[in-house]
Amino acid sequence: MPEIYRRKTVTATIGNVRMGSDVPVVVQSMTNTDTADVQGSIDQIASLAAAGSEIVRVTVNNDEAAQAVPYIVEGLDKLGLQTPIVGDFHYNGHLLLNKYPACAQALAKYRINPGNVSIGRKNDDNFRTMIECAVRNQKPVRIGVNWGSLDQALLTTMMDQNSRLPQPLPARDVMIEAMLVSALSSAEAAERYGLRHDQIILSAKVSGVRDLIDVYTMLAARCDYPLHLGLTEAGMGVKGIVASAAGLAPLLLAGIGDTIRVSLTPKPGGDRSEEVLCAQQILQSLSIRSFTPQVTACPGCGRTTSTFFQQLAEQIQDYLRVSMPAWREQYPGVEEMKLAVMGCIVNGPGESKHANIGISLPGTFEEPKAPVYVDGKLVTTLRGDTIVTDFQRILDEYVRTHYGAAAAESSQLVEVH
Ligand code: SF4
Repeated sequence: MPEIYRRKTVTATIGNVRMGSDVPVVVQSMTNTDTADVQGSIDQIASLAAAGSEIVRVTVNNDEAAQAVPYIVEGLDKLGLQTPIVGDFHYNGHLLLNKYPACAQALAKYRINPGNVSIGRKNDDNFRTMIECAVRNQKPVRIGVNWGSLDQALLTTMMDQNSRLPQPLPARDVMIEAMLVSALSSAEAAERYGLRHDQIILSAKVSGVRDLIDVYTMLAARCDYPLHLGLTEAGMGVKGIVASAAGLAPLLLAGIGDTIRVSLTPKPGGDRSEEVLCAQQILQSLSIRSFTPQVTACPGCGRTTSTFFQQLAEQIQDYLRVSMPAWREQYPGVEEMKLAVMGCIVNGPGESKHANIGISLPGTFEEPKAPVYVDGKLVTTLRGDTIVTDFQRILDEYVRTHYGAAAAESSQLVEVH
């Protein structure tokens, strides 16, 4: 995997997870259950963690939610899950954290939105109360600015100042600058109130891709806090996935971003874990982290024979998904494996040779056989109705002999001889 430049940051510790430029980019997600529903929240957090979410955020919006938090953390602990749980606080966080010390203690981090924590007040007493609670409990804090809830008093002041300039800046530039000022001045205040520099993570989320890239590029240049990256309210389905990838990729490639979340709106009854898989796929597509073997599959075209090719590609993908939890434990490194499932011999053998294992299915009018390449060499040609199971057998054998203990043993043997 190529070395990717990372902007230098301090390292923050959130429960058992470290975050910053010295450690890999962390994937996180957020529940959409009612936090007061203890069992429902435990179930969803467990499912997000199983999908690979390394930190999970829950909203703590009222008394019931704050009371539920310690039970959620306890329930996860009973399941053997130490996934750090972050509390998302808004208008009443200062009240809830003080009223429910068990909640303040159980959470691994507090997310504070400076735009609404001291709303309607002339001072930052509420913000200070939350920071002092974090200091007492030795918890890190994410100061999360969001353009939808930007500090209106600050924005109005900056807009007024801008309008008096001989050449006023565009409103968008003032809005971005206000987000940066809000995040950085809040961080400065948090340190003044006793939080350590390495207990602060910043985010400045917007919902436009170009705005996101600009705001984070400027934020990264002005501080060395770890940054939480995400396109807020990315949306549903293809739009949400593509917009998140388009926004996060240039930043991650520029070394900006220490943790990411993909904020997808699930379909009614849809799987919340999709946002975790998307975040992982963004990182893996950029060769920043590996999570699961990657299947290169051609899109198919008029040369593809029936739907067999699509079915095989899907079956292989499903097989990988089902096998990965056990493989990950047993065969470290398997997540770097590359497979190719190609629809005909035009690009099939070439693409297969670049993969660890590749198969080219017969296209229309081609001889009904499927050559299989392993590490660039043609090893066999599959025929008949058992192509899928035969291919899975080759895949299993490759995993067994190339990753984990067997691979380590054979490399030792090579060294001895
Ligand atoms: S590899 Fe063959 S089947 Fe697949 S898109 Fe290319 S020409 Fe079409």
